[in-house]
Amino acid sequence: MPERADIKHPLPHASWETRGWWEGAGRGEVVLQQCRGCQVPMHKPRSVCPTCLGTDIEHFVASGQGTVHTFTVTNQNQQGGFAEACPYVLAFVELAEGPKVLTNIVGCEVDEVSIGMSVVVDFVAGERDDAEAFAVPVFRPA
Ligand SMILES: [Zn+2]
Repeated sequence: MPERADIKHPLPHASWETRGWWEGAGRGEVVLQQCRGCQVPMHKPRSVCPTCLGTDIEHFVASGQGTVHTFTVTNQNQQGGFAEACPYVLAFVELAEGPKVLTNIVGCEVDEVSIGMSVVVDFVAGERDDAEAFAVPVFRPA
């Protein structure tokens, strides 16, 4: 069996709403948003609080720690950059701050992943042809 390759994530394109997330990842930080009105941390990045519909939103650096909320093992994906990495784990990780992040679990065999498993963030740096630094947050066993 050939050795599994790492996923080659496509380059993200930061919108004005997601720029804090992607720039934070480029610095090696998980940057979340929190509503100043109801204090609820949130992810995905957005301009309106999904809890109270407030628009007074701030960013903060999260701990990067969480647990596997749910996951699936992807055995087939014909998309370039992903096909060579099969099988890989696609998971929702519940961050210690509350929000869930769709991500990959790396650094262990796919059959070692379990719901409730403690994980910590890591970053897969990418290369761009512009001045922006970026990385894709992934998680590995804590
Ligand atoms: Zn709110």
